[in-house]
Amino acid sequence: SIKGNHKLNYAIYNDKIEKKVLLESKIEVEMESALQNKEFQVYLQPKVDLSTLKILGAEALIRWVKKDGTIVYPNQFIPIFETNGFIEKIDLFVLEEVCKYLCCRKENRESLCSIAINQSRQLLTNPNYINLIFEILDKYEIDSSLIEIEITETLYIENKDILLKAIEKLHERGIKLSIDDFGSGYSSLNLITEIPADILKIDRAFLVYSEESEVKNKVIKKVVQLAHELDMKVVCEGVETSKQEEFLCDIGCDMAQGYLYSKPIQIPEFESLILL
Ligand code: C2E
Ligand code: MG
Ligand code: MG
Ligand code: MG
Repeated sequence: SIKGNHKLNYAIYNDKIEKKVLLESKIEVEMESALQNKEFQVYLQPKVDLSTLKILGAEALIRWVKKDGTIVYPNQFIPIFETNGFIEKIDLFVLEEVCKYLCCRKENRESLCSIAINQSRQLLTNPNYINLIFEILDKYEIDSSLIEIEITETLYIENKDILLKAIEKLHERGIKLSIDDFGSGYSSLNLITEIPADILKIDRAFLVYSEESEVKNKVIKKVVQLAHELDMKVVCEGVETSKQEEFLCDIGCDMAQGYLYSKPIQIPEFESLILL
Protein backbone atom coordinates (compact mmCIF):
# COMPACT_ATOMS: atom_id res chain seq x y z
CA SER A 1 0.00 0.00 0.00
CA ILE A 2 0.93 3.62 -0.37
CA LYS A 3 1.07 3.93 3.37
CA GLY A 4 3.42 0.98 3.65
CA ASN A 5 5.68 2.41 0.98
CA HIS A 6 5.77 5.66 2.83
CA LYS A 7 7.00 3.91 5.93
CA LEU A 8 9.65 2.11 3.93
CA ASN A 9 10.85 5.31 2.29
CA TYR A 10 10.94 6.96 5.65
CA ALA A 11 13.02 4.10 7.06
CA ILE A 12 15.49 4.32 4.16
CA TYR A 13 15.66 8.08 4.55
CA ASN A 14 16.28 7.76 8.28
CA ASP A 15 18.96 5.18 7.66
CA LYS A 16 20.67 7.52 5.19
CA ILE A 17 20.65 10.40 7.66
CA GLU A 18 21.99 8.14 10.39
CA LYS A 19 24.86 7.01 8.17
CA LYS A 20 25.62 10.62 7.25
CA VAL A 21 25.68 11.67 10.89
CA LEU A 22 27.91 8.71 11.74
CA LEU A 23 30.30 9.55 8.92
CA GLU A 24 30.40 13.18 9.97
CA SER A 25 31.16 12.41 13.59
CA LYS A 26 33.84 9.92 12.49
CA ILE A 27 35.45 12.67 10.45
CA GLU A 28 35.32 15.04 13.41
CA VAL A 29 36.90 12.47 15.74
CA GLU A 30 39.69 11.66 13.30
CA MET A 31 40.57 15.05 11.77
CA GLU A 32 43.13 16.28 14.33
CA SER A 33 45.13 13.08 14.40
CA ALA A 34 44.86 12.78 10.61
CA LEU A 35 46.52 16.18 10.25
CA GLN A 36 49.28 15.17 12.67
CA ASN A 37 49.78 11.84 10.90
CA LYS A 38 50.14 13.57 7.54
CA GLU A 39 47.04 11.97 6.08
CA PHE A 40 46.08 15.24 4.43
CA GLN A 41 47.93 15.69 1.18
CA VAL A 42 48.07 18.47 -1.33
CA TYR A 43 47.57 17.46 -4.95
CA LEU A 44 48.20 19.78 -7.87
CA GLN A 45 46.16 20.01 -11.05
CA PRO A 46 47.96 21.71 -13.94
CA LYS A 47 46.58 24.87 -15.50
CA VAL A 48 47.32 25.30 -19.19
CA ASP A 49 47.82 28.48 -21.20
CA LEU A 50 45.43 28.11 -24.15
CA SER A 51 47.57 30.14 -26.53
CA THR A 52 50.69 27.97 -26.06
CA LEU A 53 49.20 24.83 -24.50
CA LYS A 54 51.99 24.98 -21.92
CA ILE A 55 51.51 24.44 -18.20
CA LEU A 56 51.75 27.77 -16.46
CA GLY A 57 50.54 26.87 -13.03
CA ALA A 58 48.35 24.64 -10.94
CA GLU A 59 45.52 24.52 -8.49
CA ALA A 60 46.13 22.93 -5.10
CA LEU A 61 43.43 20.45 -4.13
CA ILE A 62 43.41 18.65 -0.82
CA ARG A 63 43.00 14.89 -0.39
CA TRP A 64 42.59 12.88 2.78
CA VAL A 65 44.63 9.75 2.18
CA LYS A 66 43.75 7.17 4.84
CA LYS A 67 46.29 4.72 6.25
CA ASP A 68 44.81 1.92 4.13
CA GLY A 69 45.23 4.01 0.98
CA THR A 70 41.61 5.04 0.48
CA ILE A 71 41.22 8.61 -0.63
CA VAL A 72 38.54 10.87 0.79
CA TYR A 73 37.65 13.82 -1.46
CA PRO A 74 37.21 17.38 -0.22
CA ASN A 75 33.48 17.63 -0.88
CA GLN A 76 33.03 15.06 1.89
CA PHE A 77 34.97 16.88 4.59
CA ILE A 78 35.45 20.58 3.69
CA PRO A 79 31.78 21.46 4.42
CA ILE A 80 32.13 19.75 7.82
CA PHE A 81 35.34 21.62 8.57
CA GLU A 82 33.64 24.85 7.58
CA THR A 83 31.03 24.28 10.29
CA ASN A 84 33.32 23.06 13.04
CA GLY A 85 36.09 25.58 12.47
CA PHE A 86 38.82 23.09 11.52
CA ILE A 87 38.88 24.71 8.07
CA GLU A 88 41.32 27.35 9.32
CA LYS A 89 43.95 24.76 10.13
CA ILE A 90 43.36 22.94 6.86
CA ASP A 91 43.48 25.98 4.59
CA LEU A 92 46.65 27.25 6.29
CA PHE A 93 48.14 23.77 6.01
CA VAL A 94 47.53 23.75 2.24
CA LEU A 95 49.06 27.22 1.90
CA GLU A 96 52.12 26.10 3.87
CA GLU A 97 52.59 22.94 1.76
CA VAL A 98 52.34 25.02 -1.41
CA CYS A 99 54.87 27.54 -0.05
CA LYS A 100 57.27 24.74 0.89
CA TYR A 101 57.07 23.48 -2.68
CA LEU A 102 57.49 26.93 -4.27
CA CYS A 103 60.37 27.61 -1.90
CA CYS A 104 62.30 24.50 -2.91
CA ARG A 105 61.86 25.17 -6.61
CA LYS A 106 62.98 28.83 -6.41
CA GLU A 107 66.11 28.08 -8.43
CA ASN A 108 64.06 26.98 -11.45
CA ARG A 109 63.49 30.55 -12.63
CA GLU A 110 62.94 29.38 -16.20
CA SER A 111 59.97 27.24 -15.24
CA LEU A 112 58.16 29.56 -12.84
CA CYS A 113 54.62 28.57 -12.06
CA SER A 114 51.90 30.08 -9.97
CA ILE A 115 49.70 28.08 -7.67
CA ALA A 116 46.09 28.74 -6.81
CA ILE A 117 44.78 27.70 -3.42
CA ASN A 118 41.17 27.45 -2.34
CA GLN A 119 40.37 29.45 0.75
CA SER A 120 37.08 29.31 2.53
CA ARG A 121 35.24 32.55 2.22
CA GLN A 122 34.55 32.76 5.96
CA LEU A 123 38.28 32.80 6.71
CA LEU A 124 38.92 35.82 4.52
CA THR A 125 36.32 37.78 6.42
CA ASN A 126 38.36 37.34 9.57
CA PRO A 127 40.76 40.31 9.43
CA ASN A 128 43.38 38.45 11.42
CA TYR A 129 43.51 35.58 8.95
CA ILE A 130 45.17 37.66 6.23
CA ASN A 131 48.08 38.23 8.61
CA LEU A 132 48.40 34.47 9.10
CA ILE A 133 48.66 34.11 5.32
CA PHE A 134 51.38 36.77 5.18
CA GLU A 135 53.31 35.11 8.01
CA ILE A 136 53.55 31.90 6.03
CA LEU A 137 54.61 33.73 2.86
CA ASP A 138 57.31 35.51 4.87
CA LYS A 139 58.49 32.32 6.52
CA TYR A 140 59.25 30.74 3.13
CA GLU A 141 60.16 34.02 1.42
CA ILE A 142 57.65 33.43 -1.33
CA ASP A 143 57.15 35.86 -4.19
CA SER A 144 53.48 36.70 -3.64
CA SER A 145 52.80 36.99 -7.36
CA LEU A 146 53.09 33.19 -7.49
CA ILE A 147 50.08 32.76 -5.23
CA GLU A 148 46.44 33.01 -6.26
CA ILE A 149 43.56 32.71 -3.88
CA GLU A 150 40.30 31.19 -5.08
CA ILE A 151 37.03 31.95 -3.39
CA THR A 152 33.69 30.57 -4.46
CA GLU A 153 30.64 32.60 -5.11
CA THR A 154 27.85 32.12 -2.61
CA LEU A 155 24.24 33.15 -2.53
CA TYR A 156 25.00 36.53 -1.10
CA ILE A 157 28.10 38.34 0.00
CA GLU A 158 28.43 38.20 3.75
CA ASN A 159 30.52 40.83 5.50
CA LYS A 160 31.22 42.52 2.21
CA ASP A 161 33.17 45.42 3.68
CA ILE A 162 35.53 43.14 5.58
CA LEU A 163 35.96 40.96 2.51
CA LEU A 164 36.80 44.00 0.36
CA LYS A 165 39.38 45.14 2.93
CA ALA A 166 40.91 41.67 2.92
CA ILE A 167 41.14 41.64 -0.87
CA GLU A 168 42.76 45.07 -0.79
CA LYS A 169 45.41 43.77 1.61
CA LEU A 170 46.01 40.73 -0.61
CA HIS A 171 46.33 42.96 -3.66
CA GLU A 172 48.76 45.33 -1.93
CA ARG A 173 50.91 42.31 -1.28
CA GLY A 174 50.63 41.18 -4.93
CA ILE A 175 48.42 38.14 -4.42
CA LYS A 176 45.81 37.54 -7.11
CA LEU A 177 42.20 36.70 -6.46
CA SER A 178 40.02 34.29 -8.44
CA ILE A 179 36.31 33.82 -8.39
CA ASP A 180 35.80 30.06 -8.46
CA ASP A 181 32.86 28.10 -9.86
CA PHE A 182 31.54 31.13 -11.66
CA GLY A 183 28.13 30.49 -13.15
CA SER A 184 27.12 27.81 -10.70
CA GLY A 185 25.55 30.07 -8.09
CA TYR A 186 22.96 32.76 -8.16
CA SER A 187 24.88 35.93 -7.51
CA SER A 188 27.37 35.76 -10.36
CA LEU A 189 26.75 39.12 -11.96
CA ASN A 190 26.49 40.91 -8.65
CA LEU A 191 29.68 39.30 -7.53
CA ILE A 192 31.83 40.39 -10.45
CA THR A 193 30.62 43.94 -10.17
CA GLU A 194 31.33 44.10 -6.45
CA ILE A 195 34.48 42.03 -5.98
CA PRO A 196 37.66 43.21 -7.69
CA ALA A 197 38.90 39.83 -8.87
CA ASP A 198 41.79 39.17 -11.22
CA ILE A 199 40.68 35.82 -12.55
CA LEU A 200 37.32 34.31 -13.35
CA LYS A 201 36.99 30.53 -13.25
CA ILE A 202 34.05 29.25 -15.23
CA ASP A 203 32.39 26.31 -13.51
CA ARG A 204 32.79 22.86 -14.98
CA ALA A 205 29.06 22.26 -15.13
CA PHE A 206 28.69 25.12 -17.55
CA LEU A 207 31.13 23.61 -20.01
CA VAL A 208 29.76 20.08 -19.69
CA TYR A 209 26.31 21.07 -20.87
CA SER A 210 27.62 23.48 -23.45
CA GLU A 211 28.16 20.64 -25.93
CA GLU A 212 24.44 20.12 -26.19
CA SER A 213 23.53 23.74 -26.09
CA GLU A 214 24.27 26.50 -28.55
CA VAL A 215 22.83 28.93 -26.01
CA LYS A 216 25.33 27.90 -23.31
CA ASN A 217 28.17 28.36 -25.78
CA LYS A 218 26.97 31.85 -26.55
CA VAL A 219 26.84 32.63 -22.84
CA ILE A 220 30.36 31.32 -22.22
CA LYS A 221 31.62 33.40 -25.12
CA LYS A 222 29.99 36.53 -23.70
CA VAL A 223 31.25 35.79 -20.20
CA VAL A 224 34.81 35.64 -21.53
CA GLN A 225 34.32 38.97 -23.33
CA LEU A 226 32.79 40.54 -20.25
CA ALA A 227 35.63 39.32 -18.03
CA HIS A 228 38.18 40.74 -20.46
CA GLU A 229 36.40 44.07 -20.48
CA LEU A 230 36.64 44.05 -16.70
CA ASP A 231 40.39 43.27 -16.95
CA MET A 232 40.06 39.72 -15.72
CA LYS A 233 41.68 36.59 -17.11
CA VAL A 234 39.45 33.58 -17.64
CA VAL A 235 40.11 29.97 -16.68
CA CYS A 236 37.70 27.28 -17.75
CA GLU A 237 37.64 24.26 -15.47
CA GLY A 238 36.66 20.69 -16.27
CA VAL A 239 38.00 20.61 -19.82
CA GLU A 240 37.82 16.96 -20.85
CA THR A 241 37.70 16.90 -24.66
CA SER A 242 39.71 18.48 -27.44
CA LYS A 243 36.45 19.74 -28.88
CA GLN A 244 35.95 21.80 -25.73
CA GLU A 245 39.55 22.97 -25.92
CA GLU A 246 39.08 24.07 -29.51
CA PHE A 247 35.94 25.98 -28.62
CA LEU A 248 37.68 27.75 -25.72
CA CYS A 249 40.61 28.71 -27.94
CA ASP A 250 38.20 30.08 -30.55
CA ILE A 251 36.44 32.35 -28.09
CA GLY A 252 39.69 33.64 -26.57
CA CYS A 253 39.53 31.99 -23.16
CA ASP A 254 42.94 32.41 -21.48
CA MET A 255 43.51 29.23 -19.53
CA ALA A 256 42.12 25.74 -19.13
CA GLN A 257 42.18 23.09 -16.47
CA GLY A 258 40.78 19.58 -16.64
CA TYR A 259 41.26 15.89 -17.20
CA LEU A 260 42.20 16.53 -20.86
CA TYR A 261 45.55 17.74 -19.52
CA SER A 262 45.81 15.99 -16.16
CA LYS A 263 43.94 14.93 -13.08
CA PRO A 264 45.13 16.40 -9.79
CA ILE A 265 48.46 14.67 -9.09
CA GLN A 266 50.97 14.49 -6.26
CA ILE A 267 53.58 17.23 -6.05
CA PRO A 268 56.61 15.19 -7.27
CA GLU A 269 54.61 14.03 -10.28
CA PHE A 270 53.62 17.63 -11.08
CA GLU A 271 57.23 18.74 -10.77
CA SER A 272 58.40 16.19 -13.32
CA LEU A 273 55.53 17.18 -15.61
CA ILE A 274 56.53 20.85 -15.76
CA LEU A 275 60.17 20.02 -16.28
CA LEU A 276 59.35 17.89 -19.33
P1 C2E B 1 37.11 23.47 -7.17
O1 C2E B 1 38.03 24.44 -6.49
O2 C2E B 1 36.13 24.02 -8.14
O3 C2E B 1 38.07 22.41 -7.84
C1 C2E B 1 37.79 21.78 -9.04
C2 C2E B 1 37.27 20.39 -8.83
O4 C2E B 1 36.97 19.82 -10.09
C3 C2E B 1 38.28 19.43 -8.19
O5 C2E B 1 37.56 18.52 -7.38
C4 C2E B 1 38.90 18.75 -9.39
O6 C2E B 1 39.48 17.50 -9.09
C5 C2E B 1 37.69 18.61 -10.28
N1 C2E B 1 38.07 18.53 -11.70
C6 C2E B 1 39.06 19.18 -12.32
N2 C2E B 1 39.09 18.92 -13.64
C7 C2E B 1 38.06 18.08 -13.88
C8 C2E B 1 37.54 17.43 -15.06
O7 C2E B 1 38.06 17.58 -16.18
N3 C2E B 1 36.44 16.64 -14.93
C9 C2E B 1 35.86 16.43 -13.71
N4 C2E B 1 34.80 15.63 -13.67
N5 C2E B 1 36.30 17.03 -12.57
C10 C2E B 1 37.39 17.84 -12.65
P2 C2E B 1 38.01 18.15 -5.93
O8 C2E B 1 39.50 18.07 -5.84
O9 C2E B 1 37.21 16.96 -5.51
O10 C2E B 1 37.60 19.42 -5.07
C11 C2E B 1 36.26 19.76 -4.87
C12 C2E B 1 36.13 21.12 -4.23
O11 C2E B 1 36.59 21.10 -2.88
C13 C2E B 1 36.97 22.19 -4.92
O12 C2E B 1 36.29 22.65 -6.05
C14 C2E B 1 37.08 23.24 -3.82
O13 C2E B 1 35.96 24.07 -3.79
C15 C2E B 1 37.10 22.39 -2.56
N6 C2E B 1 38.48 22.27 -2.07
C16 C2E B 1 39.47 21.45 -2.51
N7 C2E B 1 40.61 21.64 -1.79
C17 C2E B 1 40.33 22.63 -0.90
C18 C2E B 1 41.11 23.30 0.12
O14 C2E B 1 42.31 23.05 0.35
N8 C2E B 1 40.46 24.26 0.85
C19 C2E B 1 39.16 24.59 0.63
N9 C2E B 1 38.61 25.55 1.39
N10 C2E B 1 38.41 23.99 -0.31
C20 C2E B 1 38.98 23.02 -1.07
MG1 MG C 1 39.09 26.00 -6.90
MG1 MG D 1 36.19 25.52 -9.37
MG1 MG E 1 33.97 23.34 -8.34
